[in-house]
This record gives sequence, structure tokens and C-alpha cells, in this order.
Amino acid sequence: MNSRDVSAGRRGDGELTEEMEVFREFLRDRGYRVTKEREAIADSILRNRDHFDVDELYLSLRSRLTISKASIYRAIPLLIESGLLAEVYLENGHMHYERVYGREHHSHLRCLKCRRIFEFSAPELAAVEKRISRLEGFKSEGHKFEIWGVCAACQAEKA
Ligand SMILES: [Zn+2]
Ligand SMILES: [Zn+2]
Repeated sequence: MNSRDVSAGRRGDGELTEEMEVFREFLRDRGYRVTKEREAIADSILRNRDHFDVDELYLSLRSRLTISKASIYRAIPLLIESGLLAEVYLENGHMHYERVYGREHHSHLRCLKCRRIFEFSAPELAAVEKRISRLEGFKSEGHKFEIWGVCAACQAEKA
């Protein structure tokens, strides 16, 4: 199976607004304040189509506003709970995230040499999730599947 881009393509600002509204509604429902800072963090995440960690997010935000890493760390669980963001993989103790709202479920290949992340979609994994869950009497809510190793380009490179 070939890895391919399973993202929904470049999104217009209209869709970004929809996601931002989902986040605002989530905050209001939970009794959290809709602050400019939380909105700025959400906006930056929603514009990011890659897999990123807090350090990268912090660098991109810091150029535009005064913000602390701690406030980003506090906003992330809210973004995850609201369904806009998901944890993807852990590398050197740093969790990497990606935006998931409105996107097709997908899995990842991670190159240990160049650190690139490739996305792929494999419907048979959903069947495995169902089968194992049924077997174990488990009520599943999702699954994660990751392949790590060396990508084709890195293999082609001479050491
Ligand atoms: Zn590679
Ligand atoms: Zn991904």
C-alpha cells in the first residue's frame, strides 16, 4: 500500500471559522472563558497542517504575541477534549500533535532518520479494532497504529 496524503486539502478560512466556533462553544459549555490567548493558540493550531510539538507551536506564536509555554500546555488538553486536536506520537519525550477535526482517520509512518511523518489510511485496521474489541467485550472509541523505521528516500541515500 502506498502512503498518501489523506488530509482534506487546503482549507479556506470559512472552515477555519467553523472549527474556531466549535472550540468557542466547547469552552462556553464547560464554563471556560473564551480568551484572546486561547483563540490565538487554537488559530495557530488550526492553520498548521503538520504534526508539531509544543516547542514548534511556541516559536510560531511567540513571533506574534506575548505568550508562555505554560499557557500552551494548558490549552492543549482543551483542544483535545473539544475534538480539534489529537496526540500523534511521542519522540524524545515530546508529544507531537495534529489537528483532526473533519479529517479522515489515518495512521502514521515515522522515519527515524529524517523524522518525516507519512500518513496512510488502512480500512482493515478498523476491522481489527472491531474484531478484537468484540472478542474482549470492549467498547472501543478508536485506535492508533504507527509504523516506524526508515523511509524510501533515506534508504536510497548512501551512508
Ligand atoms: Zn527518511
Ligand atoms: Zn497525521
